[in-house]
Amino acid sequence: MSDTEALSQSDSEPAYGKSNPFPAPLLKKYNLNGEGSAKETFHAEISLVGSELSYEAGDSLAVVPENAPDLVADFLQATGLDGTQSVTIDERSMTLQQALRDKFDLRIVTKVVLTKYAKLRGNDELLENCGDREWVKEYAWGRDWVDVVKEFPGEGLVAEDYFSFLRPLAARLYSIASSLKAHPGEVHLTVGAVRYEAFGRAKKGVCSTFITDMWDEGGTAGVYFHHNKNFKLPKDGSVPIIMVGPGTGIAPFRAFIEERIATGASGKNWLFFGDQHEATDYLYQSEWDSYLAQGHLHRVDLAFSRDQENKIYVQDRMRENAAELWSWISDGAYFYVCGDASRMAQDVHQALIDIAAEYGGMEESDAAAYVKQMQKEKRYGRDVY
Ligand SMILES: Cc1cc2nc3c(=O)[nH]c(=O)nc-3n(C[C@H](O)[C@H](O)[C@H](O)COP(=O)(O)OP(=O)(O)OC[C@H]3O[C@@H](n4cnc5c(N)ncnc54)[C@H](O)[C@@H]3O)c2cc1C
Repeated sequence: MSDTEALSQSDSEPAYGKSNPFPAPLLKKYNLNGEGSAKETFHAEISLVGSELSYEAGDSLAVVPENAPDLVADFLQATGLDGTQSVTIDERSMTLQQALRDKFDLRIVTKVVLTKYAKLRGNDELLENCGDREWVKEYAWGRDWVDVVKEFPGEGLVAEDYFSFLRPLAARLYSIASSLKAHPGEVHLTVGAVRYEAFGRAKKGVCSTFITDMWDEGGTAGVYFHHNKNFKLPKDGSVPIIMVGPGTGIAPFRAFIEERIATGASGKNWLFFGDQHEATDYLYQSEWDSYLAQGHLHRVDLAFSRDQENKIYVQDRMRENAAELWSWISDGAYFYVCGDASRMAQDVHQALIDIAAEYGGMEESDAAAYVKQMQKEKRYGRDVY
């Protein structure tokens, strides 16, 4: 029986999924960054045993978080509500404290939710400002619902008033960093902790810091899979692949290499990785080193932005190696990018177009069409966020 089959023995639909997340035990977690790093990136290993769930390299795992106790306490203080009072959510009775921990997003301030709050408060000025998308964007940046309630106090509101507008606490997705064939019954993640200071309080990303700070080894959290058919390895193992994954973008490429080794794929593998400093931020370095030594990885190009005066990024390394990169693509290589959508993925996309134009002898518009066609044929996969 294959590893995948071992986890899905039943012919019926799996009992666990989005509407019924599997309570998965955390097996192990550790910080991948070295001492002195500005980053905090955790490797987390999660058990799927008993779930009947399976995944493929390139898929993501949704993790259902809990709000941190300090955020819940700050919210109760800002609203003046009693956390021990009993409330009913989805026909279940619980304390308000529990409801705020498990059921509502106390962090993300959106136009829709802020508008509902302005109406509830009868605050015309705030309501008018909510009509201006740019104003809301600027106002919401760095603020959470503790900041909003402090600024526009909610005298007279009861717990149910807050339930009427706060968004349900949603699961967050994480690119899977393991192959099920290499780690039967497990799924691994690479999670960057979101932390910053804003409006006088230390802010923490709900789910990333739930995983790094609150999910203890042996403890469980709800998980389910999100399958991504547009981010898959070539079916033909002899096809070469090029992977660009700086920072946490490295996650699916650990899964890809493990999968290629497990399936005996003969195609060449080229990795571009980058972060701030090589000494502290080269994620999974020992694994890449041993794959290189064993001939499972054929090229690694590194871009550590802050190890020299001029910032160097993965797209710069692509351009430096453009001739060879183009020769791989001409030979049918699949190209993948994972990580930051706001800048990196766009810069990598542009570098790919420029390389196609220069080395493929195409006009810019034809090069853009060529790259688009690669995407259409699923030869160019993007897992960006
Ligand atoms: C398909 C997919 C795959 C992903 N894979 C991974 C992965 O492998 N690893 C990984 O770590 N993440 C990954 N993510 C991102 C992940 O889903 C979460 O978005 C991330 O962990 C942050 O969630 P959070 O709950 O911790 O933060 P939230 O509580 O959701 O807060 C994030 C918000 O905080 C605000 N914010 C953040 N920084 C600042 C700042 N400096 N100043 C002001 N405001 C700020 C922004 O509004 C931001 O949207 C992936 C996302 C997708 C969609």
